[in-house]
Amino acid sequence: MILQFHVRCFILAYMSIATKILKLPFLRLNRAKADEFSRLQVLNTQTANAILVMPKAQRRLLTTKAFAHVEIGSAWMNQTIRHANARTTVQRFQALPLETGHQNWTLHKVGETYSMAFGLRRGIKKRLPLAVHQASHQQWLDAILEGRASPGTVKLWCSRKGLWYACLAVSMEVPDAEPTGRWMGIDRGQNVPLAAATPDGPVLFWKAKRLRHIRRVYAGRRQQLQAAGKHHAVQKLDRHEGRIITHINHGLSKDVVALAQRCGAGIRLEDLSDIRAHAKQRQTTTNDAGQNRDAWPFFQLEQFIIYKAQLAGVAVEKVPAAYTSKSCHHCGALGTRKKHAFACRRCDYHAHADANAAQNIRDWHGLCCPLVLEAPADGAHGLPPNTVRDSAA
Ligand SMILES: [Zn+2]
Repeated sequence: MILQFHVRCFILAYMSIATKILKLPFLRLNRAKADEFSRLQVLNTQTANAILVMPKAQRRLLTTKAFAHVEIGSAWMNQTIRHANARTTVQRFQALPLETGHQNWTLHKVGETYSMAFGLRRGIKKRLPLAVHQASHQQWLDAILEGRASPGTVKLWCSRKGLWYACLAVSMEVPDAEPTGRWMGIDRGQNVPLAAATPDGPVLFWKAKRLRHIRRVYAGRRQQLQAAGKHHAVQKLDRHEGRIITHINHGLSKDVVALAQRCGAGIRLEDLSDIRAHAKQRQTTTNDAGQNRDAWPFFQLEQFIIYKAQLAGVAVEKVPAAYTSKSCHHCGALGTRKKHAFACRRCDYHAHADANAAQNIRDWHGLCCPLVLEAPADGAHGLPPNTVRDSAA
């Protein structure tokens, strides 16, 4: 017994939980079922709003018994009560999707078709097929069926086009990445969206032309629509652009993680948590959506890289972003960058600016203040003020 306990602790210490939401459309959902979903969502929203008008003390004591007269199954009502109690700032729900916990639905696979069974109405359980097109989604669903992943809540969600989806939360224990000394440096470039410095030397770039084009076209259309006062159209445009960007970010992050796996290296990223406050951009750059770094949702890309790396067992480390683009990869001095070109006056190193930055991230040694070597003041040590001078320097 004791031995078993120790073994379990040992395993737990080296595992972490990866969670993903799979958004899967129902396959060939007929009109009658779609109408039933809509009707029950309206009923669910009305019930939740009825709860919201109750005094808080009374609300907290509610159980599903109080809703025995409602057509929706108690497993779903349970979540509705929770939502109404959790969102105390909400005055009224516009639409509250139906949601239920992991015990109240089951997943099935017959041939290549996945389906889920649940009882949305009291006492009536139905099995509905799901449309699963992506290989990664299939892997997650197979992991649930084989007991390697745990199913979480299910939410029934309707898109603006009127298509119904099941949003399933799935979580899986994944082993922590092995500690590594081999790193691949990823830079969010100013000229290219991504530059990756591989551990053995070459720097790879992901082309930006298409991305810039998308940003510019959408920024232009947005301006026109805003000028015309068409705010709903602006929102629609933003959502559309967001979907394209998410799609591109999924592709980019997948490539990055696959490259790191091929190189047998971990991924080093810039820590961008406070970069917007520090990084200066020229006014002309900020006005151009295609060039503006803030406009590119790098944060989302970073999140995608981190969770894909976690699933693939690839280590991820964040290094301070300061000076990664300004320092010379060759000698560490501050250099100058003009568009694509980085130049170091001290050692005459010339390189592509984004490649230089990616290499600095890859070979980061824990130095977060720059060596001002190119212009040592009155022949002194060349370190910035307040730096403790190394006796070997
Ligand atoms: Zn240099």
